[in-house]
Amino acid sequence: MGEKKHALLSPSGAAKWINCPPSARLEEQLGEEESDAAREGTLAHDICELKLRKLFIEKGMSDATYKRRLNKLKKHELYQKEMDGHTDTYVDYVSSIAYSFPTTPYMAVEKEFSYDAYAKEGFGTSDCLLIAGTHMHVFDFKYGHTPVSADHNPQMMLYALGAVCTYGFIYPVQEVTMHIIQPRVTAPARCTIPVSELLEWADKVVKPMAALAWEGKGDFKQGFWCDKCYCSANGCCKHRAEENLQLEKEAQLPVGAFSYTELGDILVRGRFVAAWIKKVEAQVTRLLQQGKQVPGWKLVEGQSKRQISDFDKAIEALVAAGYQEDLFYINKPLPMGEIEGVIDKKDKPILEPFIIKPPGAPVLAEESDKRPVYVSVTPEEAFGEKKEEKNEP
Ligand code: SF4
Repeated sequence: MGEKKHALLSPSGAAKWINCPPSARLEEQLGEEESDAAREGTLAHDICELKLRKLFIEKGMSDATYKRRLNKLKKHELYQKEMDGHTDTYVDYVSSIAYSFPTTPYMAVEKEFSYDAYAKEGFGTSDCLLIAGTHMHVFDFKYGHTPVSADHNPQMMLYALGAVCTYGFIYPVQEVTMHIIQPRVTAPARCTIPVSELLEWADKVVKPMAALAWEGKGDFKQGFWCDKCYCSANGCCKHRAEENLQLEKEAQLPVGAFSYTELGDILVRGRFVAAWIKKVEAQVTRLLQQGKQVPGWKLVEGQSKRQISDFDKAIEALVAAGYQEDLFYINKPLPMGEIEGVIDKKDKPILEPFIIKPPGAPVLAEESDKRPVYVSVTPEEAFGEKKEEKNEP
């Protein structure tokens, strides 16, 4: 998980301060509110930690102590039964790697690592780390609903860097594999890099960008990190506004249809606009809720749905009036992720033969995206009929 104490130049904020160095100090001024999703993630991490400790670190922990600690976590208001299954998936994954070595690897769970040599006061807490011979494995459990790529992920690379700074003197580590386990959304992702590449990145990228970020200097830059890394300046960042509103000024073009090239360019340059406007809306809503005045805007009562105040009593009354009770209930299957969370670990093979992954629908992606181009075959093409080409307007 991320850091329990928070560093200015933290691993979880790395994509932000590496790409947009002044964001670190700006966020510091604004402060941050912990969301329910973040609290839920912390709880899931605490369960992961307890399960791994029992299995690898505190092997002498009695079943009664384990149960008591687990039950305490389960009393949390945000606990849900599926959390048990998802945290098991993480523990199984880590175990499968830990047990794959001929000798017991070194393991650290929820350990804080410093990379202060590259980023002032930089530190982070890695969920789990394994060292076996010259290979290090760094694990990160994510409980969100958005898939995260492990490929040269700067957050993971900073955990690895901190671990190399700490253990590099004791273990002859040559290679690092970074694993992201995100059981709610997709299969685990991993990326392996040589330690030499990690250290080169630390010298050439982390060090200069961290120095700028620490001083609050450098250039603001809008990118995926504004939203995916939850920049708290999002709704009030003047740079973002300037960049997005520039597009609006340029859109005052002569009448007529855009060329395909112009359309593609608009999409590239305007890809952050929709997400940014949502952040501005959220910021203005928050300010109004705090009783502040935002000229031109006010809060009104939103739409609400009718509800039955006491469902059991309502059904009782309808049944008394002669209706069949069955009419008022539906039997609906749970989504697959929830089924996996509910069933016992030992019963997962029962479900596996029924899991399929149909091809996804086509989605727009930029040319630089690493995924291959989507190929669709229409019924006409399948039967050898020629398609009529349409020209650009
Ligand atoms: S919203 Fe984006 S551009 Fe603005 S400070 Fe945050 S990361 Fe930088």
